Order: sequence, then structure tokens, then C-alpha cells
Amino acid sequence: MRLFEAIIDANHRAIAGDKTAGVRPSEFADSLPVAALTCMDRRLNPLIPEVLGLPEEDFIWVRNAGNIVSGPVSCAIRSLAVACLLGGAKEVAVIGHTNCMMRQLTVSQLLDLLASLGVQRSALPENVVEFFGIFASERENVIRACQIVRRSPLISPRVPVHGLMVDLETGRLEWLVNGYESVKGVPDKISAGLEKAEQALSVLETVGKFAVGPVKFGETKLGEIVSGARSLLDKVEPLVSDEAAPKAEAEKPSEHPTDVSAPPPLQMRMRLRKDRNRP
Ligand SMILES: [Zn+2]
Repeated sequence: MRLFEAIIDANHRAIAGDKTAGVRPSEFADSLPVAALTCMDRRLNPLIPEVLGLPEEDFIWVRNAGNIVSGPVSCAIRSLAVACLLGGAKEVAVIGHTNCMMRQLTVSQLLDLLASLGVQRSALPENVVEFFGIFASERENVIRACQIVRRSPLISPRVPVHGLMVDLETGRLEWLVNGYESVKGVPDKISAGLEKAEQALSVLETVGKFAVGPVKFGETKLGEIVSGARSLLDKVEPLVSDEAAPKAEAEKPSEHPTDVSAPPPLQMRMRLRKDRNRP
């Protein structure tokens, strides 16, 4: 059983009442730590560590409003890439949640809220929907984010990119995108994307000390990393073709995109207690 198979399995068993359900990090040392991108909603503060069942030191928590990934070299990607390069993250998970305020918000509500804070419409970007990343479906938002992360030249094709949804009421995880399947199929399915990734990595190696592999913190100055990363993004951006870039507004992913693998059947190990739900 692989890490996220174990996480989902333990989550479902715990919800079914199995008090022994859990993930043993020592069994998944090769897959930890994990980089998790979630919404910044404070209701997730206690929930995410609990539903993942991992100790704090085993996941790197990246957050923004709506767990949105706006592009292959966006700010969210930058944090996930650094989580992998410097933080040593072995797998990435985009975790959406039910009842997300970024889905419920309408443009008129947003503008009213901004106006109530004294922010004038003229001070805002022309396309406020795109800028704030308002979306219509939490599930589609996660799937789209996974597609962008998967195609980003800054994320190694060897890193599984999973997509999950967590139910705020029950804590139940739903596995929307199985990152193991896309990693398995990378060489055949998206060889063009792999080529872009290799191009990007070759650029990466030329950017001073911002190199792939172990980083000697004592010899690396923060300023060098910042300027190196900025220079890297400038050089990588042209490598990202229109084909690899997401179609911002025109093409919303369907509920079951063809290039996203479905998770395998869960091995439910529910322990049905005779006295459960009985007075
Ligand atoms: Zn949210």
C-alpha cells in the first residue's frame, strides 16, 4: 500500500469507527514529507493534520484563498516547487474542501465587500474573477489545480500530484486525482511535458547555487535564492507553451477529465460493531 492509499484507508476506517485506524510514518519514509496545498480557511486549521493522520514534521502546508493554482509558474507552484527542492517533499496533494467561501462568493458580493473597506473598483484589476480566482465547483477547482501542477516544468514528473476533497462536516477524504497513476504513465502519455521539464531543469542548474539536489544552507544566502528564483522564472516562462498552459476561462475541466486517472478502489476495512447506532 502506498502513502495516500494508506491515508485514505485510515481516514475512512476512522470515520467508520475504527479507533485503531492510522498511518505509520515509519512505513512510508520514502514518500515523506508531503507538500499539501489547501485553502486558507481557518476551519481547516485543526482538520487537515487530523484527516491526513501525519505528524506536523511530515507535511509542508502551503495555503492560499481557495487552494488555487493559477498557472504553471504561479506563486502556488513556486511554493510547491520550493517545498520539493528545499523541503524535500516527495509527493504533492491539492486538498480542496466543501463549503468553500471562494465558491460561494459572487462578483457583486466581492465588490460590495471591497467597497465597504474603502477599496474602489478603479483600484482593482480589470478581471476581478480571474484575479481572485473565484470558481464554481470545489471539485473541478482541485482537478484543474492538479492538471496545472502536473504540467508545470517546476515540478518533477517523478513527484506524484494528488487531488483530494475533505468534507468539513465529517472529515471524510475523497480521492479525486490519483497522482501515482499519472507518474506511472508520464513517459508515454506526456513525453512532450517531460521534455519541457528537462529543459526547465537544465535552466535550473545554470541559475547559480539554486541547483537541484541537497542544498548547503550554510553556503547559500537567502538573497541569492531570491534572485536565482526570479531569474529562473524569467527563463522558464518562455518554455511553457500555450499548449501546456491552462486555458484560463475558456475551458473548464469536466467532472472526469480524460487525462486524470481515477483512484483505485478503496480497500475498505470497516469494522462494523454490533452495538453501533443502537441505543
Ligand atoms: Zn476555502
